[in-house]
Amino acid sequence: MCASCPRAFDEALVSGYLDGELTQAAEQKVRIHVEDCAHCRALLAELRTMREATMSTAFVAPDDRQWDERPRSGLSLLSRGAGWVLGLVWVAAVAVYGLWQLWISPAGLVEKVLAFGGLSALALLLISVALDRLAAARTDPYREVQK
Ligand SMILES: [Zn+2]
Repeated sequence: MCASCPRAFDEALVSGYLDGELTQAAEQKVRIHVEDCAHCRALLAELRTMREATMSTAFVAPDDRQWDERPRSGLSLLSRGAGWVLGLVWVAAVAVYGLWQLWISPAGLVEKVLAFGGLSALALLLISVALDRLAAARTDPYREVQK
């Protein structure tokens, strides 16, 4: 951190807040300050991310805060959107190809039905996730206009 809080808020308090070491009054103070100080809000988020990273080396699914990390330029926004579209097309193509291969194969009806069900479910799940991400990417740039 090279920048510091414009209102000279004690960073130790922010860190203590994260660890749950503060008294109720101090905790309240941090919460109120963080609400309208972008610097300390960022500091809190950064400390939390660091804390989470050191606490667990296992894979942690990205939470909403990380998904919210918006691309900085129109170009990266565009490429992210294109990435999701391509991913979506790829998933659909693989699913369709796989199902077609299976359908023309000499596998028994039961196997075909089982694989069809599983593949279709997987494809639908991936497509729904992709669509969600796409919708989020489209609305993101307008969500924090007041910054
Ligand atoms: Zn502050």
